Amino acid sequence: MNIHKSRARTAVYKALRKGQLSKLPCETCNNPNSFAHHYLGYEEQNWLAIKWLCSTHHIQAHSGTYKEPNTEGIITEYVPELRRVTEKQRKIVRLLKKGRKPSDVAKETKSSYIYVWKIAKELK
Ligand SMILES: [Zn+2]
Ligand SMILES: [Zn+2]
Repeated sequence: MNIHKSRARTAVYKALRKGQLSKLPCETCNNPNSFAHHYLGYEEQNWLAIKWLCSTHHIQAHSGTYKEPNTEGIITEYVPELRRVTEKQRKIVRLLKKGRKPSDVAKETKSSYIYVWKIAKELK
């Protein structure tokens, strides 16, 4: 394994332990068994620039066949039916519908701000 790659991984584990990062389900299929993918590469300034992807989507990301998730799909595909929705997503939607700010919801549910923001945008 390349040295930069292993150091990038170590940086992610440390940030997770310190609570600077939180593990999220695969951004595309919501599989909770996800891995940190360094989408900008393994240089030091990009050590915490990660996407959470399941093994299938991670392999796609490295083979260049990965398609970015359609964020409209998060809500239209999952939320109305409340199928394949994690407890956390349900909580995010519930808090947003109560009119809470995305930044507060992100903090309270330990989610990334951009993730909550995307869901908030879909709910409008
Ligand atoms: Zn990767
Ligand atoms: Zn996936």
